Amino acid sequence: MNILIVEDNQDIAASIYDYLETLGYTIDAARDGLTGLHLALTKDYDVIILDLGLPGIDGTELCRRLRQDAKRLIPVIMLTARDSLENKLEGFQSGADDYLIKPFALKELAARVKALSERIRRIPPSQLQIGDLALNMETHDVHRAGKHINLNPILFRLLTFLMQNPHRVIKREELEYAVWQDNRPDSDALRTHLSNLRQAVDKPFERPLIHTVRGFGYKLTDNNAED
Ligand code: CA
Repeated sequence: MNILIVEDNQDIAASIYDYLETLGYTIDAARDGLTGLHLALTKDYDVIILDLGLPGIDGTELCRRLRQDAKRLIPVIMLTARDSLENKLEGFQSGADDYLIKPFALKELAARVKALSERIRRIPPSQLQIGDLALNMETHDVHRAGKHINLNPILFRLLTFLMQNPHRVIKREELEYAVWQDNRPDSDALRTHLSNLRQAVDKPFERPLIHTVRGFGYKLTDNNAED
């Protein structure tokens, strides 16, 4: 796991560095805000430990710019000696995920680093994959066995939900809600769209991935042994 420490106090930075290194983390350190921001935007970190008071741009500003410019959400723990409520609120408004007041126990910092990195790992990745079918939620690219598949927005939403919930039976109502929320069309609409989705995703290929579970709903799986 990669950690960035942005802290201008060398003693504090060094003690955090040493402690986290013994726990097996890979660590970079920056002494000022601009260097920290540059590293945060160009390298891949799991968690950033960020001091509030920094030369150059301060922690609040760094965090704000990071939230604006980073392509993904990187968890930030803000450190500060100033323990007023105002600073704390400022830190959270700029997008920090957690907060520690100096002096703090290194053990507590490590526990929070671990908790934050785990929380972020639970956020679903933008790339979904079931068997040879792949869908990218950011670029809206859908491929199967190397072939590009074109889907309209409704079919894309349908397939995204199915791929986010693979190998289990999904009720018709659940699918309808995922696509239309509370503005559900008449009951045949889902059937029609599913049929179109199968034409695009299953028909040209050897093995079907979308399965009807009669009387229950639908299931997306590449495990045909279950049929
Ligand atoms: Ca400082």
